[in-house]
Amino acid sequence: MNMLKAAWGDFFYPGLPEVWLINEGDLERGRAVVSKYESSPIETGVVLCPACGEENPRNFQLCWHCGAGLERALHPDSPQ
Ligand SMILES: [Zn+2]
Repeated sequence: MNMLKAAWGDFFYPGLPEVWLINEGDLERGRAVVSKYESSPIETGVVLCPACGEENPRNFQLCWHCGAGLERALHPDSPQ
C-alpha cells in the first residue's frame, strides 16, 4: 500500500479499514487481507446520503454535504 495514500485516507476517511500486526508472524496474513481489500472492484456511480439525500461518490465514507456516514446506504443490513 502506498503510505502517502494511506495517510491521506486516514486523515479524510477515518472509516477506512486498517490492518494492525501484533505478531510479525502475521505479516503474510495481513498482506493477504490488504491485497484482498485493494483488489476489490472499484465502485462507480453515486450513493444517496441517508440523512440529507445528497449525492455522493460511492467511494465516499461520509457525506460531503452533512458528514453523515454512508455505510448504511452502501451496505444495507441484508447479508448476502
Ligand atoms: Zn448528507
